[in-house]
Amino acid sequence: MADRPLTLMAVHAHPDDEATGTGGVLARYAAEGIRTVLVTCTDGRCGDGPGGVKPGESGHDPEAVAAMRRQELEASCEVLKVSHLELLEYADSGMMGWASNDAPGSFWRTPVEEGAARLAELIRHYRPDVVVTYDENGFYGHPDHIQAHRITMAALELTDLTPKVYWTTAPRSAMQRFGEVMREFGGDWEDPDPAEAAEMPDMSEIGLPDEEITTWVDTTAFGGRKFDALAAHASQGENIFFLKMGKERFSELMGVETFLRVKDPTGAALPENDLFAGLR
Ligand SMILES: [Zn+2]
Repeated sequence: MADRPLTLMAVHAHPDDEATGTGGVLARYAAEGIRTVLVTCTDGRCGDGPGGVKPGESGHDPEAVAAMRRQELEASCEVLKVSHLELLEYADSGMMGWASNDAPGSFWRTPVEEGAARLAELIRHYRPDVVVTYDENGFYGHPDHIQAHRITMAALELTDLTPKVYWTTAPRSAMQRFGEVMREFGGDWEDPDPAEAAEMPDMSEIGLPDEEITTWVDTTAFGGRKFDALAAHASQGENIFFLKMGKERFSELMGVETFLRVKDPTGAALPENDLFAGLR
């Protein structure tokens, strides 16, 4: 363990997921001198284009969107002081059911073994002590998030390393508060158009009952950093309501990041408040 710095690896699907899901832990652990590695699996080409133009609408150029989102991702990593950014550069698959799911090069149609082999190489290279990704539902059902989960769990099997492994989650109690704040800041949130409503996750199925959450990490002190990282991704419509909240409300609402510990070589007692509990 002494031959390298303690290392956190987060595996995410799209540019901006690192900020929403793990911006707090990335910033906090970087400040504690831990090496942070972000693996972003897709190029985000199915995101919003400049001016909020949606995929499939005229003027949406997937290549240009991917290039813009790459710059945003680099800016976000700067804010979060991510030590190493690794891009797998698969094509964003879009939401479940979109034609882009089956487009050539899409992450969703990439064989799990192929993605896993590439990620396993990165895991062997960085030898992370802690690996974070999504649960088997990709937190809210997005195909690229599900695929990120699958390749991560398969990649770990390909190495003989035994990091602590976590899936991001949210306590149900917070999801309720989150829904309230969404209505407060979302404006038309309660009355989305039917196509958008069909794509929205069912909030009651996201996250876990509070008592099942193993790991609560207080990142309130880094709420401003997380906010600024998300602000780097302001081109994406779904991030705007977070930004409307302002830093203070945002830090209050998003200040504690929660995880489910699924692999653990340390025996650290649960619940824990540190991803590196038992490692330092
Ligand atoms: Zn995503």
